[in-house]
Order: sequence, then structure tokens, then C-alpha cells
Amino acid sequence: VHEGEILVEVRACSICGGDLKIYRDANRPLPHFMFGHEVSGVVVQVGAGVERFREGDRVAYAHNNYCGTCAICRAGSPAWCKEFPLPFRGGGGFADYVLFQTPPRGCGVYKIPDNLGFPEAALAEPLDCALGAVMRSRPLPAEVAVVIGLGGMGHLISQVLNALHVKVIGVDLQEAKRHKAAPYCVLTLDPSGPDGAAIQQQVMDYTSGQGADIVFEAVGKQATLTLAFELIKIGGRLIQVGVFARPMDNFDPDRWLFRKDVTMIPAKGPAPWVTTAGESLALDMLSRGVVQAESVVSVFHRQNAAAAFEAQDTGGAVRSVILPE
Ligand SMILES: [Zn+2]
Ligand SMILES: [Zn+2]
Repeated sequence: VHEGEILVEVRACSICGGDLKIYRDANRPLPHFMFGHEVSGVVVQVGAGVERFREGDRVAYAHNNYCGTCAICRAGSPAWCKEFPLPFRGGGGFADYVLFQTPPRGCGVYKIPDNLGFPEAALAEPLDCALGAVMRSRPLPAEVAVVIGLGGMGHLISQVLNALHVKVIGVDLQEAKRHKAAPYCVLTLDPSGPDGAAIQQQVMDYTSGQGADIVFEAVGKQATLTLAFELIKIGGRLIQVGVFARPMDNFDPDRWLFRKDVTMIPAKGPAPWVTTAGESLALDMLSRGVVQAESVVSVFHRQNAAAAFEAQDTGGAVRSVILPE
């Protein structure tokens, strides 16, 4: 443990959609890539010069470290800060221990509020990403947002939107995921079925023929991005959250963007969403119950790790969280 570092014993780590895609081999593994960045645990060793943490602190990783002063940070993209390149951007959370840097500023590790357990606190990083996606859509109360894909990101985005009084229409192929999202959606829709146009008709009916103000594409496939452009209103905002494992064949900028006046906004990666007290906004929202972890988290033990990946892929688990014991 070097100066400025803390060693954390992992207590919980959830499976990111990006982890799942690499697990399925749809994506090529990246150099330096390590599975598992949605981590919570206990500080077991503290390097020289670390003042913010002590041994025994319960902590969670919420976003990348960032310097706050480089050109990229100042331009508003601290998730890409050049001062903290890979492999300092998380990972390794399915091992027993992870090592974190704790810079004086822009530290992405936070203490966990007392009323939050480790599996719930592991959602800090995906919730931070979800907050970023929602904020980039600039939602207004009573607007209608369609969320395509009710995995972990889709669920967390839906909950944040619902807390902001946006009307959420959730779309997913899996009945179990739609059922879990129902409490924070005005409608949940199944995009399969014999008539592919049915879902478009339901969204048009709900919006008096206008289409949705905002659509979140949280899957990363050609079919779902195409659907997103069909469901959005003229002048709407489309937020791309899903990770595309490969390029698309039929992107139609003329019909989808130019002739519908649609703004397409990417929302990749965590950003530092912090409270005025300098704590993680994601952990604060979980602690206050603004976002409920219960409908999102399914807990697995490490010996059943393969089942955890399978459940999140096809078995109705929204976010599988793996515990070491
Ligand atoms: Zn993640
Ligand atoms: Zn920077």
C-alpha cells in the first residue's frame, strides 16, 4: 500500500452491463481491463498521507478519480480525466481486495452511510452513471420519458426520473424486469409480440400522438436504437446509455436526427455527482430512500458467480451483486 492508497476488503460487487457484455464475449477484452468496478467494502490498510479514511471505514466506489484542473475536467468531462488513466478507473471487485488511490481532490471513494448495507452501496457507481444520464436529458416535471431496457441502468434511471415527476414508460422483453419497474412507471411495455408497431401505437396514444419527450436507449443494440428513434417526438432528446458491442449497419441521420430535430446525447461513464457536503449524491439518495435498492439488487455468493451473470443476462435479475462469502 503506497502513499495515498487504501486497501479495501471487498464485501460486495455488482455486475456492470459492460462486464456482462465482455463475459458473453460480444466485446473484445480491453488491455488492463478488470471485471468488477461497482464495489463496496471495508478499509483494511491505509497508506501514508491518507487523511480521509481510517482502517475499518465502510466505503464504496462511486466514480473515477479526477483532477478537476486539466482541460478535459474543465470542459465538463471529468470521467475522462487524463491524470487518472487506466488502470486507475476501477476494476478487480470480484477479487478479495482492491486498491484505491485517494487523491486530495476528486476522490471517487466515499464512506457508506450507516443505514446502507454493502450490496445496496455497491449501486453507488451505476446510480452515479444513471444520475449523469438523467441530468444530461434536462428533464422537466410531467414530461414523458421512455426507458428502453430495464436492466440496472434502466431501473435506476427510471427511479431518478420518477423522483423528478417525469412520467416513465419502461420497455423490456423480460416480464420479471417489467414487473419490478412497475412501481415507478406509468406504463411498462413488451416490445416483442406479433405486431411490432403495437408499442409505437401505445406510446403515441399516451402522448396524444406526439411521441416521447425523452427516450433513454439502455440496451446497446440496433433494434432498440431504431425503436428509440421511432418513439421520440419531433424536437425530443435521445440519450444513449447502452454500450454498443459493434457498429450499427443502418444508422439514418437524415430521417432520425435532421428531419425530426432530435438531439442525441451520449451518457457514458460515471461523473462526480456530490452533495454540498462533498459526499456521494448516489449514496445519499440510496440512504434517504429516494432510490430503492430492493427492486434492483439480487444477491449471489461467489461460488455461484456464473449463475449471477446468467441471471442478469436472461433470468430476470436486474443487477446481480456478488458477495465474497
Ligand atoms: Zn458500471
Ligand atoms: Zn482532470
